[in-house]
Amino acid sequence: MKTNTNNKIKSYGQGPYNTKGMALYSTDGHFKPIQFQRRALGPKDVAIKLEYCGICHSDIHHGLGHWKKEIFPLIPGHELAGVVVAIGANVNKFKIGSRVGIGCLVNSCRHCNQCLEGFEQYCEKGPILTYGSTDRDGSITQGGYSTLNVVDEDFVINIPDLIDLAYAGPMMCAGITVYSPLRKWNVGPGKKVGIVGLGGLGHMGVKLASAMGAEVTVLTTSKDKINDAKQFGAKHVIINENGINLSAHRRSLDFILDTVPYQHDLDRLISLLKMDSTLCLVGVGKVTESNQLNPFSLVSSRSSFAGSLIGGIKETQELVDFCASHKIKPEITKITTKEIDDAWDKVINKKARYRFVIEIN
Ligand code: NAP
Ligand code: ZN
Repeated sequence: MKTNTNNKIKSYGQGPYNTKGMALYSTDGHFKPIQFQRRALGPKDVAIKLEYCGICHSDIHHGLGHWKKEIFPLIPGHELAGVVVAIGANVNKFKIGSRVGIGCLVNSCRHCNQCLEGFEQYCEKGPILTYGSTDRDGSITQGGYSTLNVVDEDFVINIPDLIDLAYAGPMMCAGITVYSPLRKWNVGPGKKVGIVGLGGLGHMGVKLASAMGAEVTVLTTSKDKINDAKQFGAKHVIINENGINLSAHRRSLDFILDTVPYQHDLDRLISLLKMDSTLCLVGVGKVTESNQLNPFSLVSSRSSFAGSLIGGIKETQELVDFCASHKIKPEITKITTKEIDDAWDKVINKKARYRFVIEIN
């Protein structure tokens, strides 16, 4: 593990830490600077100077109030990457200078069956999310569009030296969210896998499923992404605009991972599954817009319709190590903190290629 013992790192104490961030004050999608404090270190906490944070479509759903009533000011960001600058008395996994990532989770009950099995994201009591959750001290968690975070070491991911920190951020959510279902549904050699939506999650899905040995088909609404999809490892690309007839591809796929963030037609996707196969939804749109699903789509080929939520901490470390060993990295565009509003507009309009990553300064 790389260590960095320069004077700048030595100057960080045990906190609390004055922190700067970019916050939303309402659902208008307009960011403004904010100053706030991160808590002083508990015995198992690490303080992390953040260097990068990816922009996930979930940040947009939260920020624009697509899912629930949010508490403002809200600092989004759950694809964090940075360097440990201070450690609590009982920290043993990290040291000052460790290169680390934080994803969507910063704590969970740690006692329920799911937590004990490493599925903290499905914690019975509900996991504490990186932003917009009530933390153990009663404060509201704030995310990675900020200069520093304090997190329990059990929820921190080690980033191997082979991975540049700028690329590590998007692995923390986009990467693990597709890796976990690809593993759960045994994607590998001999399997034909459909990835729907070539965005932040989708492009990582293509790279990972290809690296696992599957034959990948991308379903995209964007004709200008065809070449990219093939470069990322897809063997076939289907243009999935409403009205386009997909019957030529009926019952051709063993598994479909659907990353589309807004309302769309599920019946036409289910029709692409072979008998006894699964469509897994990871894209979650506005709660006010549900996708129609005709029961005949499922019963007529004994198909399964499933969902999956990010991944646990152990599995996230596994994904990062898989990316390091297979030389997989996200396609990123670095932006400054002043460009977040514009980047959100581009993500909503399918213009991200394929993940915006904020350089924290
Ligand atoms: P993204 O970068 O915006 O990618 C989504 C892609 O879906 C777009 O690039 C586009 O691909 C397609 N798309 C967008 N709008 C569409 C529409 N109205 N109809 C059809 N296709 C559309 O988003 P992301 O960051 O990958 O996130 C995708 C979704 O997953 C979001 O809903 C997000 O909240 C959710 N998510 C879920 C989890 C989880 O744990 N389940 C974790 C992270 C994110 P094409 O141009 O190829 O059509
Ligand atoms: Zn995310």
